[in-house]
Amino acid sequence: MARTLAGSTERPSIDAILKRHFGFQSFRPLQREIIESLLAGEDVLALLPTGGGKSLCYQLPAVAIEGLTIVISPLIALMKDQVDSLEEIGLPATFLNSSLSPDEFRRRWRSLGSGRYKILYLAPERLVTDEMLAALDAWNVGLIAVDEAHCISEWGHDFRPEYRALAILRERFPRVPLVALTATATARVRDDIVTLLRMRQPRIHVASFNRPNLSYRIVPRLSPLKQILGILAEHRGESGIIYCMTRNRTEELEEALIHEGVLARAYHAGMESAERARRQDLFIQDQIQVIVATIAFGMGVHKPDVRFVVHHDLPKNIESYYQESGRAGRDGLPSECVLLYSRSDAARLHHLIDNITNEQEQTVARRHLTQLIEFCESPLCRRVQLLQYFGETYQGRDGRSLAACGACDNCLTPREQVDGTVEGQKILSCVLRIQQKSGFRVGLHHVVDVLCGADTEKIRRWEHQTLSTYGIGGEHTRYEWMHFARELMRLGLLRQDAERFNVLEATPTGREFLKNRARIEVNKPLVTGRLSREKREQQRKMTGAIVYDQGLFSRLREWRKSVAAERGVPAYVIFHDSTLQAIAQEKPTSRAGLARIAGLGERKLTQYGDQILAVIRDAD
Ligand code: ADP
Ligand code: MG
Ligand code: ZN
Repeated sequence: MARTLAGSTERPSIDAILKRHFGFQSFRPLQREIIESLLAGEDVLALLPTGGGKSLCYQLPAVAIEGLTIVISPLIALMKDQVDSLEEIGLPATFLNSSLSPDEFRRRWRSLGSGRYKILYLAPERLVTDEMLAALDAWNVGLIAVDEAHCISEWGHDFRPEYRALAILRERFPRVPLVALTATATARVRDDIVTLLRMRQPRIHVASFNRPNLSYRIVPRLSPLKQILGILAEHRGESGIIYCMTRNRTEELEEALIHEGVLARAYHAGMESAERARRQDLFIQDQIQVIVATIAFGMGVHKPDVRFVVHHDLPKNIESYYQESGRAGRDGLPSECVLLYSRSDAARLHHLIDNITNEQEQTVARRHLTQLIEFCESPLCRRVQLLQYFGETYQGRDGRSLAACGACDNCLTPREQVDGTVEGQKILSCVLRIQQKSGFRVGLHHVVDVLCGADTEKIRRWEHQTLSTYGIGGEHTRYEWMHFARELMRLGLLRQDAERFNVLEATPTGREFLKNRARIEVNKPLVTGRLSREKREQQRKMTGAIVYDQGLFSRLREWRKSVAAERGVPAYVIFHDSTLQAIAQEKPTSRAGLARIAGLGERKLTQYGDQILAVIRDAD
């Protein structure tokens, strides 16, 4: 039998290791199956969503298997974090990468030779040097894990050419089981991983891509700053990411948020890499609350307690939306994904696509964009639609397929249909009158200004106050008119011309509608896109919120902060919020009680048990 960490000759059951080292009572979906396949010596391809618990799938076997587990990861910045977290639970681990001084490198190399470590993290380019391969032969490798395995595929969202060199592993270590892990769901990437890593009849384990703790909400983008401040007000003291389409926008929004007293920093690929690393650190260490970023931010950031992700602009496609919003709630606690939707973004993206010269690429991009717009405008459950996109039906616990999740905007506030005939007539005739009078077309905002009888510089200059449609829209607010106009676009009666500054034009169908005095039904406007207190409670319940003592939770967080500062690690390396919440719910009074909390293994219990019990006692 294999020698284990504890030095006994019997291999302890994986359930015992799970409890003892990791402090978890049960496995997440497919973790057990993946681990058992590996312990049986098989190759495994593991497809689990973000936050699904992929790390455990190689960290737990590392305890059980004799020899060294090597983990290939492209995320150098993350290795230290992972190693710190493993040391916290008493699992000797280290990493070798370019961030180490030559002295430190040699020191670790020697310790590896003496068998001091169970886990070694390596960047792919390190691995394939002759020197390293020879050393690995001597270090007795027991398991190879390729994390973020989609990096090997050009079809993935983060292709790393260095990953191609990993093909050598299978041949070089024929007796060692190999596990490839990724959160990418597409079949093409999956096939690439198996082929390019030359995996040996791999077991393929595919988990559901549902993220039950995330709630999705898509709201019309009206006054983005105000809307974002509203979201922030719901998330006091919690971390979040705001994605923007352009570098400029990240900087503008950063400034506006700072002006409002929010601890925010922009982040984009145009910044010096040292500055980017600094900002990322501030975020990870909870010294800033919000990062306002382009999609350059994310892949390397595994902050588990990101409680909200806002898309200020439309993402590229549904897959990107799923991955980007998926950076919320890795720790499994309820988290919110809000997309501020604007049809003008869609028009702009269409315009960009028009400029793609490769015809095949253009077709794909256009299809992706159309799917995304349909997703945004659909009144159906967001979760059901997202999963459907990945070819999955949404199922409840009992395995029956469900049509609604109860936590997204369309489930919480189903959209009523109302008669939009009069509104449609007013908007379309206003658009036509303006064109008749001035001989040019105008944008949505101006049309709404005319309807609402506004007194603007443009209206005076163009004498639009003399139009018969001027001021005929008193029964609705500006916001509502914008909504009705968007509904007309959705119904194909009105369109925006992306090539001419999004000016509006009535389509032939729109003209027909006016002429024939047809009737239309439209979705009722969402007044603010904000949820009532009651709906918010429901949203939290449906995404797994528990009831706990909030005062105690804050005190535990304070305590954690001081411990983390002392040890020079991010707070989540000490404990995840989910663990602190469970403590604040259970309020254990003894070590035995604490031991039943998920996330408190033997090592952490010994190290922090008494301190936690003291915090609980003092809080009473
Ligand atoms: P992934 O790499 O799949 O995105 P991670 O390995 O980073 O996910 O794990 C996400 C979170 O889930 C971590 O906080 C981890 O501690 C937690 N976790 C993993 N397995 C379990 C489990 N069996 N029970 C409870 N929490 C778990
Ligand atoms: Mg991971
Ligand atoms: Zn839903």
